[in-house]
Amino acid sequence: MLTTNPFDDDHLHEECGVFGIFGHSGAASLTALGLHALQHRGQEAAGIVSSDGDMFHSHRGMGHVGDNFGSEAVIKRLPGTAAVGHVRYSTTGETMLRNVQPLFGDFEFGGLAIGHNGNLTNALTIRKQLVRRGCLFQSTTDTEVIVHLIAISLYSTVEDRVIDALRQVEGAYSLVALATNALIGVRDPLGIRPLVLGRRGDTWILASETCALDIVGADVVRDVEPGEVVVINDTGLRSIKPFAKLRRRFCIFEHIYFARPDSIMEGTSVYEVRKRIGAELAKESGVDADVVIPVPDSGVPAALGYAVAAGIPFELGIIRNHYVGRTFIEPTDSIRHLGVKLKHNANRAQIEGKRVILVDDSIVRGTTSTKIVEMVRQAGAAEVHMRISSPPTTHSCFYGIDTPEREKLLAYRLDVAGMAKLIGADSLAFVSLDGLYRAVGETARDSRYPQFCDACFTGDYPVPLTDQEGGEGQLSLTLLTEGH
Ligand code: AMP
Repeated sequence: MLTTNPFDDDHLHEECGVFGIFGHSGAASLTALGLHALQHRGQEAAGIVSSDGDMFHSHRGMGHVGDNFGSEAVIKRLPGTAAVGHVRYSTTGETMLRNVQPLFGDFEFGGLAIGHNGNLTNALTIRKQLVRRGCLFQSTTDTEVIVHLIAISLYSTVEDRVIDALRQVEGAYSLVALATNALIGVRDPLGIRPLVLGRRGDTWILASETCALDIVGADVVRDVEPGEVVVINDTGLRSIKPFAKLRRRFCIFEHIYFARPDSIMEGTSVYEVRKRIGAELAKESGVDADVVIPVPDSGVPAALGYAVAAGIPFELGIIRNHYVGRTFIEPTDSIRHLGVKLKHNANRAQIEGKRVILVDDSIVRGTTSTKIVEMVRQAGAAEVHMRISSPPTTHSCFYGIDTPEREKLLAYRLDVAGMAKLIGADSLAFVSLDGLYRAVGETARDSRYPQFCDACFTGDYPVPLTDQEGGEGQLSLTLLTEGH
């Protein structure tokens, strides 16, 4: 029987990635490349909408970018010099084709395609009001609320309508929107999710991460500012700041886990940040050991930073199989216990008889750590010390990262000693919040005005959780919040 990979189900999942391009004859093929570079942000579905200045063309499908946009024939069906694309892992909305973005609407002013990374926290509340007013929803994603708000806006231009719609929503959003002759990019007022601006000659590009600019040979121009709307058309780029200015609260978990290590986020190398977190960990909770081993791939930069700071050799003591897809043949009961080795295997020669420090980026439900610690012990480790390059994840994310409900978070249920016992480690330590802030270039976390969104570690949610608090979510919750 084909089933979803249970190991991936144990995890948080990547959110979404967006890409937009204006002014290139190969817009759709460059968008496919850009989405490929953003594949780590969402593996469930991918979509591209292009505009030839007259008509829009779209292709969307379940699965990876390569599965959907790997053939020239598909790209040829997406003509035009402008396009937007989206890779998705559902943080809201069911898993089905009608939820695959970019969403498209035909409005009074013409067509508009929208790709959204993030999660709106008052989408259910607004949706209920809109349904009462007669709006018929076609999908179960929060993004469709924006589409309807644009449709009923009394403003005339596309950008004014987009701004009008966004003034009414709360939450995290980095958007790329394609109108017939314009590409629009928006970041929410707190800049929770990333969005960068790039340029290649006369071609403008918007992308979730700089790695998507690299792949299409574009230079990084700058981050789109929190609360900024950029409108790109034949006359160039215009920047609008329509929202009240707020202190930025970029998602610190992008640095810890989500973003690709070769991306530059908010002017900082993600790889360097991860190495510095590892160094902080070594300083804060060093332990005598023979070898530092990362849980691949997410733990690699932090483990490197740890090893260098501690002066302990770094070895690849766990090898990851890169060919584990999202589906696989479910093992029979008799071989299910072998499942742990599907994704990771111990490199016994580097482990046997040694005191091992394992480094991973996070503990969510504790499934991975438990399996890996056991695997390393079975490979003959003398001691196993687990080090985590984030503080304990005690709260769910409502801004676009798919976390399980709070009760399922190990750090919500247990203290560090309890967690160490449960995962079977000789010791367990997490980087401190201030250590994390030092690694991202701050001297400490400012408790009055935190410089980042760190709600998953502190419960300090910078945007109201209107749907959760008002109970508005209850009616459609099963429809709308799969993945949370
Ligand atoms: P868990 O096994 O539930 O404790 O999840 C922690 C593991 O999941 C760590 O190995 C992380 O690298 C990984 N992880 C953390 N966040 C995510 C995410 N958003 N998507 C997929 N894996 C994740």
